[in-house]
Amino acid sequence: MICLYVHIPFCRERCSYCDFFLVTKAGFVERFFEALAVETASKASMLEGQSIKAIHFGGGTPSLVPPSFIAAWLAQVSGLARISSDTEITLEANPEDLTSESLDALKAVGVNRLSIGVQSFSDRKLKALGRAHSSSDALRTVAGALERFASVSIDLMCGAEGETLAEWEGDLHAALGLRPQHISVYMLTLEEKTRLWRDVRKGLRDLPGEEAQAAMYRKAAERLRGAGYRHYEISNFALEGQHSRYNLASWMREPYIGFGPAAHSFVVSDETETRFSNASSLTKYLADPAGAVDFREALTEAQRFDEEVFLSLRIRRPLPVGFLRKGHKLGHQHLDATLVRLKENGWIAVEGDRVTLTEAGFLFADLVASELLSE
Ligand code: SF4
Repeated sequence: MICLYVHIPFCRERCSYCDFFLVTKAGFVERFFEALAVETASKASMLEGQSIKAIHFGGGTPSLVPPSFIAAWLAQVSGLARISSDTEITLEANPEDLTSESLDALKAVGVNRLSIGVQSFSDRKLKALGRAHSSSDALRTVAGALERFASVSIDLMCGAEGETLAEWEGDLHAALGLRPQHISVYMLTLEEKTRLWRDVRKGLRDLPGEEAQAAMYRKAAERLRGAGYRHYEISNFALEGQHSRYNLASWMREPYIGFGPAAHSFVVSDETETRFSNASSLTKYLADPAGAVDFREALTEAQRFDEEVFLSLRIRRPLPVGFLRKGHKLGHQHLDATLVRLKENGWIAVEGDRVTLTEAGFLFADLVASELLSE
């Protein structure tokens, strides 16, 4: 079983806080799909004979693309590998792109899960985030998606300029009123070199502090868990059985192949685990879709250990103490003392031979991981 990721690198405009690889030249969409077909043919040997667990169209804004292009690429893949009715096919979409017709068309070409970038149901907050859609666009499109798709995810973001806990609770209330199968909650982070980062540095804009943002995150976890959503990863909540199969597979270190510029892949062959990334340049990608690679590395034992620790914590997968002892370079005594301290902080639970992140530990997952890694 394998997962596929397609990076569709087009957005109408770049949001002030976003540092993803993308361009704002939608005129290149057709050429991009021609290049994607070439890249896919070049990876035929990696696809042949495989069953596809999940396909994720991410970006960028995949909902900018005519569904017929998505259909053509899926047809090419299904000529090489097995896409079944069980294959999760997710497309990320922005509310302003979705109409009744486009929702029907996406369903008709085989998309069976939508991930909608709602971010907020407050017009004030959407404006502060620089998003193009309104609250009524968000409500209308999520309702329309839920009528047609058995699996809908929405993204919500907390920590926008001027946001209060009460405004955030309004977002959670609106989301729960719609009851999508899956909700992702992101805290707005200042990524270097973004417009928002520059504005904050110049003192032109001010964001809620860390503690205010943490309170919003905790409120989300409390409200969503109370409403029956399972908090299965730091930022992700799902109704029973409705987790993202694609994301969960990548956190469980299952292999996936990425297509498109800046897409990453993780492949396993003969005990060797390799990660590689396509070039983060549309020009290079269009010129050489099959060969433009930024990096490729076979993982060392230490890297494998660190990934296992870091990713297992994120999804609260128990880590055996014996496993941690083998990879931890500072010795057993130091590890045991670290585990005691993390447990006293309430960030991990140790049951028998197993270490798991606690609900309270989600906010400190990076810190916990840094204490348990190999170096
Ligand atoms: S729509 Fe999404 S991917 Fe595009 S610029 Fe905004 S945040 Fe980034």
